[in-house]
Amino acid sequence: MTDNASTSPEFIADHPALNLLNTVAMANGAPTDSWRSDADVLLWLERAGFVAQGMTGRDPVPRLLDVARGFRELFRKLVAERKAGQRLDLSAFNAYLAQSSRHLELLEDAGGALALQARYDAGNAKKLIGPLVEAAAELLADGDFSLIKHCENPDCILIFLDKTKSHRRRWCRMAVCGNRHKVASFRQRQQDSNG
Ligand SMILES: [Zn+2]
Repeated sequence: MTDNASTSPEFIADHPALNLLNTVAMANGAPTDSWRSDADVLLWLERAGFVAQGMTGRDPVPRLLDVARGFRELFRKLVAERKAGQRLDLSAFNAYLAQSSRHLELLEDAGGALALQARYDAGNAKKLIGPLVEAAAELLADGDFSLIKHCENPDCILIFLDKTKSHRRRWCRMAVCGNRHKVASFRQRQQDSNG
């Protein structure tokens, strides 16, 4: 892995399903998809905690890239519509939910405590993204959309859930877009004061 999670755009959203949307980010002035293969999607799902570690060593999952991209763009549209206060057409989304298949399993830890854990059938691409689809559904149902924000850098397309106490988060990453803004407004003030 070449990038690390703190600087990679893909995990800055502060919500597991919103991170999905940030797998497309600006690079060299153009929206760039960090997913280029089924393996890229599987690795992202694993890093995001949506599939068990070690899945990347398994047989490839056919059509995973197409299915995951299709779901991502559907979810992007619904998030935008929900944020705009529009009514949603949920039929396509519900078709993804209907493909997900899971059961609960009881696990006993070393101390004898019991816990329930969801187990997902991962037999094909639509089933494999089931946990991601559920996380997205939970956000649509329960998320506070006034706190779902776009980075204020006009050249940036990243989105995040503002979980700060003051709800004043403005940037995807301070070190990237926040500092650029600070430098730009400093230059502007210099220009203004120089007349
Ligand atoms: Zn940004």
